[in-house]
Amino acid sequence: MTPQKAAEIANARNSLIAICEHFQQNRNGQSSAAFHQDIADRLSALAGRKTPWTQRYIVSVKNGRVDPSQSMIWAIKALGYMIDDGHFLIAQSRPVDVLAYGEVTPGAVVLPDSRACAYVACNVVFVPRVPWQRYCCPDCRIKNYRMR
Ligand SMILES: [Zn+2]
Repeated sequence: MTPQKAAEIANARNSLIAICEHFQQNRNGQSSAAFHQDIADRLSALAGRKTPWTQRYIVSVKNGRVDPSQSMIWAIKALGYMIDDGHFLIAQSRPVDVLAYGEVTPGAVVLPDSRACAYVACNVVFVPRVPWQRYCCPDCRIKNYRMR
């Protein structure tokens, strides 16, 4: 495991502990299992899982017996943002690696879906500037026109 990955896992574990402490306030005599299943359900919803994670998995991640999966790390980050009054868009977005041509601030929320350039010989996938943009650049539009 890279030191980077180890740090990411340690951060996620600490955030999960903080999240549990946050929700502890309105636990209202819930059993530990029910309480942790509630946390598991919240994280599962954010990760878009059809089958929710189990409370056992949450407890195991919390006390360091198991390392969280990548999707759980994202869900923990998202729930952490939501608790810290983050915007729902940030909570529901997921990190991806992109090649940015324009100015994209790290952590920026990119709203449109990406699409493949309509010129078949081009293999660029891009995020359109406007909804009707079909080509990644004017050059591809011209080449596609010439092909007809
Ligand atoms: Zn293109």
